Amino acid sequence: MNIILLGPPGAGKGTQAARLIERHGMRQLSTGDMLRAAVAAQTPIGLKAKAVMESGALVSDEIVSALIDAELLAMGPEVGAIFDGYPRTAAQAESLDAILASHGRALDHVIELAVDEDELVRRIVGRYSCAQCGEGYHDQFKQPRVPGTCDKCGSHEFKRRKDDNEDTVRTRMAEYRAKTAPILPLYEARGIVSRVDGMAPIDQVTDAIDAVLASG
Ligand code: AMP
Repeated sequence: MNIILLGPPGAGKGTQAARLIERHGMRQLSTGDMLRAAVAAQTPIGLKAKAVMESGALVSDEIVSALIDAELLAMGPEVGAIFDGYPRTAAQAESLDAILASHGRALDHVIELAVDEDELVRRIVGRYSCAQCGEGYHDQFKQPRVPGTCDKCGSHEFKRRKDDNEDTVRTRMAEYRAKTAPILPLYEARGIVSRVDGMAPIDQVTDAIDAVLASG
């Protein structure tokens, strides 16, 4: 099964992808995570992408599509793919069709996480994660049970994404509205889009996504 999680930044795509991995043994392909790894490792792609990402604008279609192609190549054909943060433009959607076909895969579902923008800004600006294991936290909604200690691995180190500030978030939202939302009709025409209420509690969102996957 190959699915796209579509929604603006902060809609919960990463959170839900983590649950799909646990429940269904799928693999998350997040271009944002791949780019952040490239920036941290100071690879040629990372050096190119760094300033663009910090501004909230989009990295070039060629770069992200090449990253996705390479990831799929490294995956066994039996492992399902969850595309998170990709495709983000019509050109990327077109590339994804070609890439999937070349790997003998087809797209089963596009799950749109529908959310309220102002609420999203609140969600994003407060979020941080464990620097060791990546467990996600939030200033308002999910603090560690023991202050300053990760619930999952006990680490005392946490980090925040550089692009999780209000100005950059607004730019990322504008990019989503202008370039990513317009690709939905393309998938709607194929009858593979399901809309899930991304403002519902996390478990309910997971149940709604599971119901979509169970539908075939
Ligand atoms: P994300 O973690 O998905 O919110 O992505 C963080 C940043 O990485 C975005 O604001 C873009 O600058 C860049 N990025 C991630 N995925 C893509 C993509 N599919 N196309 C272009 N830029 C991307």
